[in-house]
Amino acid sequence: MVAYIIGSGAERLLAFPVSKLGTMQRPKLTRDRALARLKAVKDRFSAYIGSRYASKAKDCGSCATPCCADDDFVNVNITRLEGEAIMRTIRLSPRVSPARREEIIGNARAAVRRYGLDRAADTFATTYACPLYEPGRGCLVHYKAKPAPCTQHGCYEEWQDLPDELELRRTERRVAALNRELYGPDEQAWGFRTIPVWIARLADEGVEAPSEGDVPEAEGLVQITRRAAAGRRGGSRG
Ligand code: SF4
Ligand code: SF4
Repeated sequence: MVAYIIGSGAERLLAFPVSKLGTMQRPKLTRDRALARLKAVKDRFSAYIGSRYASKAKDCGSCATPCCADDDFVNVNITRLEGEAIMRTIRLSPRVSPARREEIIGNARAAVRRYGLDRAADTFATTYACPLYEPGRGCLVHYKAKPAPCTQHGCYEEWQDLPDELELRRTERRVAALNRELYGPDEQAWGFRTIPVWIARLADEGVEAPSEGDVPEAEGLVQITRRAAAGRRGGSRG
């Protein structure tokens, strides 16, 4: 819904439709708008972690045992909207070829089968190796669709340096609210599931399927850079 500005100065009025009760109706959230708002929420959280904590965390770029590839470690759960952001990223990222996209989807389906991710009663208790991790390059959705728990996570020498949980919870509430506004109150339709489950499901539904007019999107708007204790510029997690 467009807001028209009428007149100027004291005459300026916002011509949003007004209901019979006199309250302004909120424009219906579109999927594209929800994805843009999700990105803004994630960018804000990345900037928060980046400015307060990242410099104290271990350099992921030189990590010999990346946690994203550890099938005993990753238990990240995401919502449907975050899954859709991931699907859009692997469709349009210049770092992901169409063949690599198919491979990621195949790996996600294989992970669902191997770890029984779609059957787990408690999906947070089940771990998996993330299909979005690429050896030597890190997280393929780092710039556009990284889940907030991944941004939060890092290795720190001192427990006092660990990021607080408050901002993460706040971010997750904002993400849930966006899902609720777009998909409705039934959490079964959009609620938390593992990354491979959402990738496999959304691929089956044809969400963000490649099309001939696809133009790769630029990346690199927000990046968390972590420095090792010696002051060496490190890579970002994943
Ligand atoms: S958070 Fe970074 S440093 Fe720690 S295990 Fe994972 S990749 Fe390695
Ligand atoms: S940081 Fe990226 S590769 Fe690692 S678990 Fe999260 S989404 Fe997967």
